[in-house]
Amino acid sequence: MKAISTEVRQVETDCGTIVFTFERKKIKNINLRIRQDGSVYVSAPPRVPVKAVESFVVSKSDYIRNAVLHFSQREVKKAELQYISGENITLLGRSMQIKVEEDCREFVDCDGTYVYIHVKRPDDYNRRKKLFDLWLDGQCMTVFDEIMHEVHKKFAPYNIAFPQLKIRRMTSRWGSCQPFKSVITLNKRLIEAPENCIEYVVFHEFCHFIHPNHSRQFYSLLQSMLPDWKECKRILEESIVL
Ligand SMILES: [Zn+2]
Repeated sequence: MKAISTEVRQVETDCGTIVFTFERKKIKNINLRIRQDGSVYVSAPPRVPVKAVESFVVSKSDYIRNAVLHFSQREVKKAELQYISGENITLLGRSMQIKVEEDCREFVDCDGTYVYIHVKRPDDYNRRKKLFDLWLDGQCMTVFDEIMHEVHKKFAPYNIAFPQLKIRRMTSRWGSCQPFKSVITLNKRLIEAPENCIEYVVFHEFCHFIHPNHSRQFYSLLQSMLPDWKECKRILEESIVL
């Protein structure tokens, strides 16, 4: 579709100004889009008056503000962890804070609110990172393995051998299944997600032991095993950016 014109406009709302890029297009309705960077984009058919476009944007102001906030939080989450006190991390969908403590014994533990990094030299970034990463690997192994066993039980009628679990950092998917090698690989970052989202991924991968592809039969099996899988998928995709 060919753009007719683009301009930056702004409207006043009860809670402040909304700036948006406005484009006239040969389309039927007014469209509103929030880009990943939080900018607002509106397109409208040629003959819709600017006033109507503005009141449309005002009517969507709550939605816009929430979406912009959501994207800006995602930006913050993408920043590299420094493993310092006060830093927020998310584990199993719960927000927790890192506390670094000088200690002659080095270990990491968690009380559900704080993750304590006990380290001999608190100013040693590499050591803090190493301790934390090792601990997180252990958490992944424990949590994922437990979920794998639960899901495996649900698949009992299909007589599937318990697969080998591999954990990797992946940038484009949550998990994968090699049905003929009996291996399920899960993305390490799933540990940030609520448990039902991790379950959803494991259910998905187990379904591949019966249907290796994403056929209609695959999805109807997934639907029967986990009726709310779409909701879990939505929450997962909203809470973690790969
Ligand atoms: Zn799949």
